[in-house]
Amino acid sequence: MRIALIAHDKLKPDMLDFARSHRDTLAQHALVATGTTGGLVAEATGLPIHRYLSGPLGGDQQIGSEIASGRVDCVIFLRDPLTAHPHEPDVAALLRLCDVRVIPVATNLATARGLMAAIEAGVFAAGG
Ligand code: PGA
Repeated sequence: MRIALIAHDKLKPDMLDFARSHRDTLAQHALVATGTTGGLVAEATGLPIHRYLSGPLGGDQQIGSEIASGRVDCVIFLRDPLTAHPHEPDVAALLRLCDVRVIPVATNLATARGLMAAIEAGVFAAGG
């Protein structure tokens, strides 16, 4: 699978904990991320990650384009629900594209952990 990782600033520490805890699973997949998230996760885990632009500079839209093209299979997007972000429309558009393509998307840690368990169990292996 090709998994996209995105975390708003306040959730970046959570993303790093998450990536460290699930390193073995993530290591078996291709990873892409928005710029800052990708840099931090790569540093924390040593995993190779293709980094797009930072979210506010268009990274969410770049990942959205990959989703629309069928090149992303799963999205972990730790969203900060309490802070207004200038690129909120990009965030909404990205989540919409996940629904268009019917790919799994987690927007908080609880669902992200569930997704990892589902991936480990091969739930998405058939690509459906
Ligand atoms: P960042 O982007 O990983 O470059 O900080 C995330 C976002 O704000 O969408």
